[in-house]
Amino acid sequence: MAGIKRLALAEADRRLAATKLGEIADLGVDVFCRCNRCGHTGLLASRHLIPVLGPATPVPEVGARVRCSRCDARDVATRPAWPGLNENPGQTPDRAAVEGAIPGTMRLVLERN
Ligand SMILES: [Zn+2]
Repeated sequence: MAGIKRLALAEADRRLAATKLGEIADLGVDVFCRCNRCGHTGLLASRHLIPVLGPATPVPEVGARVRCSRCDARDVATRPAWPGLNENPGQTPDRAAVEGAIPGTMRLVLERN
């Protein structure tokens, strides 16, 4: 029991510490996505995600609602796309907003519930 409670408290701390969508949208920062299966990367516009997911959504949890458009996997990691933090130097992540917003450039799509 003590182990379960400790894990629950650690999870609660992690959620509180995680940056929220509303916080990065206020700063003009988008969401960086990386598919854990094929390595595909993309950006999702935070201001377009807020009407769907809400401003209090922790950025790491956005990945649970995203599907990779290259390999169709749902195993996508997300973090704030802080300026200067490009994990793939020389490769610019695909610019994308919510599905269909920018035709032809969409790489990661929001999973509809
Ligand atoms: Zn993929």
